[in-house]
Amino acid sequence: MAGVDVVFDFDKTIINLDSDNWVVDELGATDLFNELLPTMPWNSVMDRMMMELHAEGRTIDDIVEVLKRVPILPGVVPAIKTAHALGCNLRIVSDANMFFIETILDHLEIRECFSEINSNPSFVDEEGRLRIRPIHNFHESSHGCNLCPPNMCKGIIMERIQASLMLDGKKKKVIYLGDGSGDYCPSLKLGEGDFLMPRKNFPLWGLISQNPLVIKAEIHEWSDGEELARILSSLINTISMAGNAQLSPKIMAVPAYDALACPSPKPAMVANSIQFKQPIC
Ligand SMILES: [Mg+2]
Ligand SMILES: [Zn+2]
Repeated sequence: MAGVDVVFDFDKTIINLDSDNWVVDELGATDLFNELLPTMPWNSVMDRMMMELHAEGRTIDDIVEVLKRVPILPGVVPAIKTAHALGCNLRIVSDANMFFIETILDHLEIRECFSEINSNPSFVDEEGRLRIRPIHNFHESSHGCNLCPPNMCKGIIMERIQASLMLDGKKKKVIYLGDGSGDYCPSLKLGEGDFLMPRKNFPLWGLISQNPLVIKAEIHEWSDGEELARILSSLINTISMAGNAQLSPKIMAVPAYDALACPSPKPAMVANSIQFKQPIC
């Protein structure tokens, strides 16, 4: 499926919680984290927390061991492997950091499934401390987006991805999966023919619910990893069939609840409308 680009958020989309909170909580530093949070951006707090934990004697290996125990959304790893095996191009866009993400993906043996990881850079300094930097250096300049935190605008990253897809010449479909308010900005960048998979009852879903008409992509909500896997597989099948038949998606229109409910690969596309319906079969 060279015609499909799948873009995953990481926290609460691939893993079942926030990796920053998981590491801080598991290493017993929740109180200090909560104290610092009102005083500086989240990304800066995480860098500070890594230094505090190092000062308390926590090592990189301690952090790695905690990351290896992170709860994964059941069904998501097989879904990633299947999408990769089908030839989809997979990327991650996340406001966590490269060290946390790569450690977890390596542990799950799915690092090679992703062609690109966009996240806050991180490195281990000469004293053995994990340092976390912003992907956008807001100390030098603002990225200019008031929807996003100062260190990262996922919408700007999405625009770069879209520009790179345009260079291929062939119209590629994007499927974007996410849960958080930081996923709203890139969701607004998706175009007609793209697909948005927000996690139901999470902040992105809530923001979309307030005004679904501003989203051009076709929306398919999901609640758990198994549902994510089923819908993702269905969308990839649908895009594949539409591409093979050289048909416009709108010619193949059937109600969206079929796409949400039925794992069988049948044509299931709708025009741009939000579909917050429960599966019916
Ligand atoms: Mg998330
Ligand atoms: Zn933004």
